[in-house]
Amino acid sequence: MPIKYTTRIVRGSCPIQEFIEKYVDPPRFMEYCKACQNYEKRWSCSPLDIVPLDFLNSYSDIRLIGLEIILDKNMLQGVVCEAFDVPKQINTILDIEKKRLTTLLIREEKSIPNSQYLFSGACEICEICTRTEGKPCLFPERMRYSIEAVGADISKISEEILGIKVLWMKGSTIPEHLILICGLLIK
Ligand code: SF4
Repeated sequence: MPIKYTTRIVRGSCPIQEFIEKYVDPPRFMEYCKACQNYEKRWSCSPLDIVPLDFLNSYSDIRLIGLEIILDKNMLQGVVCEAFDVPKQINTILDIEKKRLTTLLIREEKSIPNSQYLFSGACEICEICTRTEGKPCLFPERMRYSIEAVGADISKISEEILGIKVLWMKGSTIPEHLILICGLLIK
């Protein structure tokens, strides 16, 4: 049975210099990215074909957008992570909400000239990314870098800028809320 949930959008902003000083550390987060299945497999992901700090420094501010997904606790009974695999019901929710978030980000990006959004996680436009074949990105005009891949500290951003505590999976237990964090870089 599908898990019921509600969502809310939380927003914040930060001048880019302050953001870099407090919340960005590319070498540190590159190490976490190495454990991800998308490392070196998607153009949106680490290691990037840009220098993250130079890229961020070409903007003046960043708006942070968090989509909090609040899961119905009663429906989580019996839903567990096995061997760190996210359960299908949760993946379905994430797929739906990532699409919704993408639509919102595209709309906001279009409304602000020269802005560019950073997505929560990997680019999923193509099922199999051309990076796996050593070929250029098929849709560079649509692909957006992952906020994690530019070295952003998602937990700290969530807690200090958006006021939402990140809950991680504890063993096989699913947390009561999930959060997708994105950025909108502005010149
Ligand atoms: S648009 Fe396609 S080829 Fe480009 S990064 Fe995304 S998945 Fe890879």
